[in-house]
Amino acid sequence: MPQPHRQHLTLRRRTSAAPALLASAFFAVCALATTAVAQDGTVATSSLTGTLHLLQGRGGNVVASIGEDGVLIIDDDYEEMVPAYEAALTDLVGADANPRFIVNTHWHFDHVGGNLFWADRGAVVVAHTNVRERMATRQDMKFFDRVVEPSPAGALPVITFGDSLALHFNGDDIEVQHHAAGHTDGDSVVYFTSENVVHMGDLFFNGGFPFVDLGSGGSVAGYIAAVEAVLARVDEATVIVPGHGSLANRADLQRYRDMLVATSGAVRAQLAAGKSVDSIVQAGLDEEWASWGGGFINEATWISFIANSP
Ligand SMILES: [Zn+2]
Repeated sequence: MPQPHRQHLTLRRRTSAAPALLASAFFAVCALATTAVAQDGTVATSSLTGTLHLLQGRGGNVVASIGEDGVLIIDDDYEEMVPAYEAALTDLVGADANPRFIVNTHWHFDHVGGNLFWADRGAVVVAHTNVRERMATRQDMKFFDRVVEPSPAGALPVITFGDSLALHFNGDDIEVQHHAAGHTDGDSVVYFTSENVVHMGDLFFNGGFPFVDLGSGGSVAGYIAAVEAVLARVDEATVIVPGHGSLANRADLQRYRDMLVATSGAVRAQLAAGKSVDSIVQAGLDEEWASWGGGFINEATWISFIANSP
């Protein structure tokens, strides 16, 4: 566990270091690792293309489609960030900022925290079946030493899907594609096909080793397969929004994929040769990948995900 970050974020917060806050701080760190946005509780907005805007607060990146059909958002950050999003959306939209639709890329609380607030105001929450299931039941996140209690009924996705789903909104055909056993077991990638923008949720931590939530059905092999599936669909002009970190293009995602394949392959080869996880951590990954370990998933943690992944 990255103790220095725990220290750092504990100091930043006015309240005491309750486990829940520490856990949420870790998610905050993964945003911190690769972007310089909004640690003050505000939301930074930037125009992507056409109807689409990027909103960055403390948790996962949010994409908003704003146009004649109204507002649709992909993910909605931490619960405590809702007022900042309300202000940011009101700025972009004008009077009525309430989204009509919310798509959750997965169940983690730094991506679904606004569901209840917006659903109370009429938003329809859409997500993969496993997102609803995990939100509806108690989740023991051993990695964060945190138990996440079931979400209130009003926060749960009301439209769920299995493999994929399409939304036709603001002139775009939006494809929501599930990928099994990647970051969790309920990850979706959202393609704005007309605008050529894709939101990858936490199947992309731009610039850092990924958090693979093995306790939520994630796997390293599935994670890589999902990244490769996205690579196969996008082109040089595609704007790629990672779950955490700054905007990327296809070349960035290719580098990410190459890192995932090379490092996981190297670790698996050493395990197959009989080396212990400790000795692999001791030896470290190739120097080439050193910069990827600067975020909340350091090299040792990434090696442990690879070693423990199904
Ligand atoms: Zn996540």
